[in-house]
Amino acid sequence: MYISRFLPRERFDDLIEALRAAGYPIVGPQVHDQAIVFDALNHAAQLPIGIVDEQSPGRYRLHASDTNRYFDWTTGPQALKPMTFVPRETLWRSVRQPDGQLEFSAEHADMPQTAVIGIRACDLAALAIQDRHFMHGPQSDPYYVQRRERLFLVAVNCMRSSDTCFCAATGDGPKVHTGQDLSLSELDEGFILEAHTGQAREILASLSIGPADDEQLDRAETGIKQAADNQRRSLPAGPLQEKLVGAVDHPHWQTLNDRCLTCGNCTAVCPTCFCQSHVEEISLNGQETRHDRQWESCFNPDHSYIHGIVIRAERPQRYRQWLTHKFGTWEEQFGRGGCTGCGRCIAWCPVGIDVTEELAAVCSPPTLTADSGGSPS
Ligand code: SF4
Ligand code: SF4
Ligand code: SF4
Repeated sequence: MYISRFLPRERFDDLIEALRAAGYPIVGPQVHDQAIVFDALNHAAQLPIGIVDEQSPGRYRLHASDTNRYFDWTTGPQALKPMTFVPRETLWRSVRQPDGQLEFSAEHADMPQTAVIGIRACDLAALAIQDRHFMHGPQSDPYYVQRRERLFLVAVNCMRSSDTCFCAATGDGPKVHTGQDLSLSELDEGFILEAHTGQAREILASLSIGPADDEQLDRAETGIKQAADNQRRSLPAGPLQEKLVGAVDHPHWQTLNDRCLTCGNCTAVCPTCFCQSHVEEISLNGQETRHDRQWESCFNPDHSYIHGIVIRAERPQRYRQWLTHKFGTWEEQFGRGGCTGCGRCIAWCPVGIDVTEELAAVCSPPTLTADSGGSPS
């Protein structure tokens, strides 16, 4: 049972100050280069006040709204992934010593404890999946763990959905239910705050604010329900793993040959993708090396390069790998699908390919068309 407190809108800076007093530098959403991204946050005036996002396949735009809300947008291109699993980092270095021996030294992640304001249910669910991969697998990743354990998460219950959101279909939103320290529901007059951890309870207590009333709680629940009800994208019914594995020869995959650019944008923005590659950077004098790891994508031909051949040389094979793993065989690996319905891969695909439409097509029997002369398509 969580106590719900009400923070008047004009006192949002008090929350920022309370987090700072608890020792947290703060990161929060801001408009940069016509997108909402996470950056150092010092005061509420930096938030995307009165900004809403318009998202659809291949399209992301910000608009001014007629409200003064701070969190009326849904997702920007980033989730928490770049903070915990950074796009590129050095893991170790080696230096040749005068006697010819190599000396190795490890690099360590060194993120200060950080409070992140504005994270959504879909991204917390994605974080839980990444935790499972990087922290709770047979080998935990010390770089990820160092950053992950220093996060204090102030999550926002969504009161509106974008056209691309489908978290209700994956069961991950729009209400936050995992991993948050503090959750927040925004009303016109202010914010309902709920503490979910001991540290969050202390921060809430330091604000000296009263409880939210029943009418405010009802309005918040209604807003969250509306955000879910407005979502129109869905996933095919039934076991997706079985359907996708059974659709390996579906003729629809071939249509991706003329549409997918294999740019990898979808995997870069996806908050659950965790593939990585490792590269050695050698100094010009040949005396030092730096070992880096960086985000990798299954759309890159090198991703399936083994013993002199690229296993997935064709574009449709790479798209099939992305979809079949993310929505199908991920279940075997992690006990759930790898998608939390954030919709980023739809909005940030430069040609507007929509995973939900592709899934619907490959999970349906091939159709016969007049154009194809009766061949299945
Ligand atoms: S589906 Fe879209 S974003 Fe993904 S690789 Fe293809 S073109 Fe790029
Ligand atoms: S597959 Fe697409 S919608 Fe699902 S979590 Fe990844 S980016 Fe979001
Ligand atoms: S997918 Fe759901 S939780 Fe994520 S931004 Fe959209 S409505 Fe909010």
